[in-house]
Amino acid sequence: MNIFENHKIKNSLQIKSSCKFYVEINNKNEFNDLHVFISNKKLPVFILGEGTNIVPPEYYDGIIIKPLFNNIKYLNETNIVSVGASINWHFLVKEMVSKNIYGFENLSLIPGTVGAAPIQNIGAYGQEVSNLINKVDCFNYETGKFVTLTKEQCNFSYRDSSLKKGNLIIFNIDFKTDSINRLNLDYKSIQTYLYQNKIDSNSLNLDSVSDIVCKIRNSILPNPDEVPNAGSFFKNPIIDKNKINTDHFSLDRLIIWDIDSVYVKVGAARLIQLIKNDLINDNNIKIYDKHALVLITNSETSQTNILEYANQIKSKVFEVFNIPLEIEPTIIPN
Ligand SMILES: Cc1cc2nc3c(=O)[nH]c(=O)nc-3n(C[C@H](O)[C@H](O)[C@H](O)COP(=O)(O)OP(=O)(O)OC[C@H]3O[C@@H](n4cnc5c(N)ncnc54)[C@H](O)[C@@H]3O)c2cc1C
Repeated sequence: MNIFENHKIKNSLQIKSSCKFYVEINNKNEFNDLHVFISNKKLPVFILGEGTNIVPPEYYDGIIIKPLFNNIKYLNETNIVSVGASINWHFLVKEMVSKNIYGFENLSLIPGTVGAAPIQNIGAYGQEVSNLINKVDCFNYETGKFVTLTKEQCNFSYRDSSLKKGNLIIFNIDFKTDSINRLNLDYKSIQTYLYQNKIDSNSLNLDSVSDIVCKIRNSILPNPDEVPNAGSFFKNPIIDKNKINTDHFSLDRLIIWDIDSVYVKVGAARLIQLIKNDLINDNNIKIYDKHALVLITNSETSQTNILEYANQIKSKVFEVFNIPLEIEPTIIPN
């Protein structure tokens, strides 16, 4: 266990941020010492992956925990691959594609670590990580006990899981390698890409699908290494269709996916596009021109600044559509 004081909190929004204690955990045996350290300090705790889905404060008067578990182990008899939490997610996708294991390819190029993937049940292009998970190994830093959660115990739903609320440090995840045996090309933007580029779906394999997903993503999403951002800043809201205010824009101007006879999921990017000219400009934050769900910064911004701008968007969307938006990245408390 390595303990650093006044350490930087890395984050893809490039907010200048630091913490009182930064603790790296290198293996399971160190968790007991960590438990003692946390119990003695009596400070708030936050677990950090690669910082691509967080909004940190300028100073966190608490303990940041950085798990460093880098193993990948194949358990062939049970069709499981067991993966350490700090492995980069896209690295794992490429590894699975190279081993001809289906199900990961549509999740290509999602930034961040394997350990963070189940927290908000990462998803893209018609796939969610929950479809691939067998179990999640954690350490509860409050009780000092190891806990293993089955997929069912994680209570996965759209950008949510029970892991969000617990005091759990995820250090390992078991993925099934035999859960899916076909390519999933149903998602509309994949279909459009195939049509526009005259690609026969029968000619595709895991590698080419992963490549197509990367190309689509690169055409609409900013690379956080070049343009600071945290991906989608808001979730697509799920609401009662009859409650949408249509005084300003008719329903056919919105993007709506039916969930059941009452509830629909509404495309938040379109809502933001429709109101964005009514927002007061901020010198340090902008709505990304190729994808209205993404807020980009010039790295001169702060948590307060970003949340003010996000709240402005929320208020305007609520005022115009009667739809509440929810922020997707985790806000580290000040
Ligand atoms: C350009 C861009 C595109 C994106 N596209 C998508 C997308 O298509 N789909 C999607 O779902 N997301 C997307 N995201 C969001 C992001 O990639 C995911 O949320 C990712 O899982 C975050 O990983 P991370 O390691 O950076 O986590 P962090 O940002 O460090 O942390 C995120 C949350 O996970 C918790 N956490 C991290 N590691 C652990 C651990 N080991 N144990 C317990 N808790 C942990 C943190 O406490 C925090 O609450 C995108 C982000 C960017 C910047």
